[in-house]
Amino acid sequence: MKQFLNFINGEFVATGRTFEKRAPANNQVIGQVHEAGQAEVDAAVAAGRAALKGEWGRMSVVRRAELLHAVADEINRRFDEFLAAELADTGKPHSLASHIDIPRGAANFKVFADIVKNVPTESFQMTTPDGGTAISYAARSPLGVIGVICPWNLPLLLMTWKVGPALACGNTVIVKPSEETPATATLLGEVMNAVGIPKGVYQVLHGFGPGSAGEFITRHPGINGITFTGETRTGEAIMAAAAKGVRPVSFELGGKNAGIVFADADFDKAVAGITRSAFENCGQVCLGTERVYVQRPIFEKFVQALKDKAESLKIGPSELPGVGLGPLISAEHKAKVLGYYAQAVEQGATVVTGGGVPDMPGEYAQGHFVQPTIWTGLPETASVIREEIFGPCCHIAPFDTEEEAIALANATDYGLATTVWTQNLGTAHRVANAIEVGLCWVNSWFLRDLRTAFGGAKASGIGREGGVHSLEFYTETKNIMIRL
Ligand code: NDP
Repeated sequence: MKQFLNFINGEFVATGRTFEKRAPANNQVIGQVHEAGQAEVDAAVAAGRAALKGEWGRMSVVRRAELLHAVADEINRRFDEFLAAELADTGKPHSLASHIDIPRGAANFKVFADIVKNVPTESFQMTTPDGGTAISYAARSPLGVIGVICPWNLPLLLMTWKVGPALACGNTVIVKPSEETPATATLLGEVMNAVGIPKGVYQVLHGFGPGSAGEFITRHPGINGITFTGETRTGEAIMAAAAKGVRPVSFELGGKNAGIVFADADFDKAVAGITRSAFENCGQVCLGTERVYVQRPIFEKFVQALKDKAESLKIGPSELPGVGLGPLISAEHKAKVLGYYAQAVEQGATVVTGGGVPDMPGEYAQGHFVQPTIWTGLPETASVIREEIFGPCCHIAPFDTEEEAIALANATDYGLATTVWTQNLGTAHRVANAIEVGLCWVNSWFLRDLRTAFGGAKASGIGREGGVHSLEFYTETKNIMIRL
């Protein structure tokens, strides 16, 4: 049986307190995860602090960048192992993990190493009150030991999205992967050792959130900042923990994202785009679309076309050729999603397609598969329109005017992402500016330039990461003023 160990100060550490990791596709136990307690958290924090004072703390930016490039190269060299680990943990389609999760996971190290090497700080010259001259310049130093708390939906990608910039800026990190996806974070420990990243720079602690490794990390006074991706409710708990010591947080939280399709959109592209944004990764993407608003002249045609697309998705395990929809991550999450499927019906939805569990052959009948599901006819107060489900489902409602579409999209506490489909440039710019989100895609979805800001407005996050924006969180900027 595979053992997922903690990675502390360059060594893999068993604790003897284990919990099971099960495969989402057939619910079979695939490994034992060793839960870290307070003692392991204390040890990791001490090692992280020591590394800041040692070779890592003294290392030049150029050398750090070289090492991070080596990390990316080593992930790519062991691509198949990372892919197999991610597929086993998540059950997602092979095509998705091989095109997005693993390559982007490796790319995150290169992109941020290059940014840190090349981005200047500001400098000003001023005249002093007595007519003299002074110059100021900014210098960046690392924040310290960073707690990195991660979700299960894109495990390697979302973890390295934080670890890449944190290390590039000279910090050390303690990663707490989701209890559902321990594998790739652990494997990355081997990569760190192989390329010569000093001990204590990258560490991994397994466990749960409350009362376990997650909470112990966020409460530890030796942690200088916390970067977290996950549910908004969890973010509230972490923010309360971070208040002690006034430690900074960077949060990428939940969403209830709208898709807006205007009648002048390229119809086929809009249908393909919303199919992806609603159903990719079995709907377990924070940026996914669970509320679709379609302009009335094309409403019926759009609903029919999205229904056809949903029903054409092949449901199955990762290795099935052509599979488009894998399982949900866990039995618990499946129960949550099916709970929403039931609520939609109770609240009067028309079920356009799906709404239940597909018939799966053999061992996959034990897996966490659900049908892609589309509803119409619900009032905007319905729970499946208000609350984040994180499943392969969406509600579609008609709208008449641009103003109405904007108001509908903004009528939520969340503010993560929107996808807008129109061929009118004026409409695109007006709507993109009026939508209260951190990310607005026009005629696209999940298209990312890693140099750009990523994050959510309203209850969907605090701060932005990506490109130079990551430096704002992962460094302390000091102003140095010199009177000449
Ligand atoms: P959770 O918030 O449940 O968990 C995220 C991580 O936080 C896990 O490692 C979890 O541990 C840990 N955790 C839970 N409670 C605490 C606590 N009190 N203190 C410290 N750590 C804690 O999110 P999910 O893993 O369920 O991921 C899905 C959510 O993530 C969705 O809401 C989704 O929208 C959001 N998300 C947001 C993204 C964004 O960029 N905005 C991107 C991807 C996902 P464990 O679960 O192991 O117990």
